[in-house]
Amino acid sequence: MTSAEINTCEDALRLLAAHLDRELNDHTHAEVQRHLDACRSCYSRAEFERRLKASIAALGHEPVPPELSGRVESLIRQFTVTADE
Ligand SMILES: [Zn+2]
Repeated sequence: MTSAEINTCEDALRLLAAHLDRELNDHTHAEVQRHLDACRSCYSRAEFERRLKASIAALGHEPVPPELSGRVESLIRQFTVTADE
C-alpha cells in the first residue's frame, strides 16, 4: 500500500481496520490518527471497534463462529447509524 491522504471519513473508515491492526505504514497510520483526533464520529467508531476486538480477543483463541461475526457486523451497522444521528 502506498501512503494515503485522509481527506474524508470514508477514507478514514476504509483504513480503520488496518489502523487498529497496526498494519499501516507510519505515515498512513499518523494520517488516520490525525483524522480520529479531529473527527468525533470516526473516533467513536474506532473506540467501538477497538473494544470489540479486545473483548473478542479476551474470549481466547477460538475461531469466531460465523453467526457471531454476522451479529457483530449488524451491531457495527446499528452503531454507525446511531452515531450519525
Ligand atoms: Zn471522520
